[in-house]
Amino acid sequence: MKPRIAMPADTFTEATNIINERNAEFAPDPAIQAVTKSGGIPIILPSIDPEDAPSYVDLFDGLLMLGGFDIDPTFFNEEPHYNLGETYRKRDLFEIALLKAAIKAGKPVMGICRGMQVINVALGGTLYQDLSEDPQAKLKHNQQAPGNLPTHHVNIQSGSMLSSLIGERSYVNSRHHQALHQLAPSLQTVAKSDDGVIEAVESKLNTQILGVQWHPENMFKHNQESQALFANFIERSNNVSGLSSIQTA
Ligand code: MN
Repeated sequence: MKPRIAMPADTFTEATNIINERNAEFAPDPAIQAVTKSGGIPIILPSIDPEDAPSYVDLFDGLLMLGGFDIDPTFFNEEPHYNLGETYRKRDLFEIALLKAAIKAGKPVMGICRGMQVINVALGGTLYQDLSEDPQAKLKHNQQAPGNLPTHHVNIQSGSMLSSLIGERSYVNSRHHQALHQLAPSLQTVAKSDDGVIEAVESKLNTQILGVQWHPENMFKHNQESQALFANFIERSNNVSGLSSIQTA
């Protein structure tokens, strides 16, 4: 059986001609394509009450945390910075609860952009709410080039799971104005851009978690490195034995 990959839904918050009530739960097609073409079966999970999130865990083999709105900074004990973008607390609450339950159950996790940020916050880390808060950040991380094209490089730590997949320097896309600040105790930084922004993290303990700040799903069609990230995630989801779980409190 192919591994089942859960993707917590993003929420379209505007009313349209077709969706005449606000709030439609969705997942972007590039993520669905990347999962299916890599041999996984995608499942989209709507943001339900966080106390019910653990009920979903038995339904999937791997958890793919995708991009979306900014994270409500109260989850890392900060007030909103004036450059904070749109937030949607309901999704934050659900994703944090689901992620903790999935980690506890030993399920492999891949985080993309906001997804990596949610992983860090859920495990006790903090974010720069806007890159203007990071005195070192100089590069353009919110590219205006089409999203399927790479625009800046990342330097990858040798010996990491990520470097075994794509080597020690990679050319990636970049669509974020937030970034990881203090790292969660159970995570390690495995890639940075040339200006020092954290671009990828892994679990310190094992191969359970990989998060990237860029969007491999948007380069998947034509970029072998993006394909390698998804192939690795599907493979990890196919073979979950031996993962010990991080304490998630
Ligand atoms: Mn970037």
